[in-house]
Amino acid sequence: MSPTILIIEDEAAQLRSLRLALETQSYTVLEASTGRQGLEVAALQGPDLILLDLGLPDFDGLEVLNQLRVWSQTPVIILSIQAHERGKIATLDAGADDYLTKPFSIPELLARIRVALRHFVWQREQQAAVSVLVWGDLRIDRGTQRVTRSGKLIKLTRTEQHLLDLLARHAGKVLTHTQILNAVWGRDYTEDVHYLQVYISRLRHKLETVPSQPELILTESGIGYRLNWEPA
Ligand code: CA
Repeated sequence: MSPTILIIEDEAAQLRSLRLALETQSYTVLEASTGRQGLEVAALQGPDLILLDLGLPDFDGLEVLNQLRVWSQTPVIILSIQAHERGKIATLDAGADDYLTKPFSIPELLARIRVALRHFVWQREQQAAVSVLVWGDLRIDRGTQRVTRSGKLIKLTRTEQHLLDLLARHAGKVLTHTQILNAVWGRDYTEDVHYLQVYISRLRHKLETVPSQPELILTESGIGYRLNWEPA
């Protein structure tokens, strides 16, 4: 069965082009043009993924997301304009899975949708199982907490291990500075982005082939980091 995607978007032209692009990929499409309507459709129809515009006529995307997250873990991709930069970060902190800034390309959107859908299934499957992530000759075993390259152990400090494990647990998904600082260092450190940058740099030096051109731990400029990974 093809996944169902709910688009919550008030601009008719944008809605039309999104519907068309998704239907071409055989997704089933649901629509809502206000936040209230979006929550109703989400509750009644249980979509597999939601595309959420941040600027809606009744309440903003963050409010929609907060209400949704009370009862649903359905993946949410935020669609925002540059002016909503701060709102975008707030929605990621509140549990959105990804974001795209308008104007975005349709292939980019489709790629993000595929990742979010697979990630959601993967995460459910991984809850009990031990997971191993592999990039070429690099292997991260989350069960034994061992990271190896071509079989050779890469030594990580406790904090580096903790940080990498967090990124690996959310592989493919963007994590904000606040989310990472909060999870690894605790609430008192959520403003210390510089601290995080230092540790990311150390991890890159240990894990990346070319640390200055990271292919594994990607920077989401002004927002956070993402472990570059597409589930098989
Ligand atoms: Ca809008």
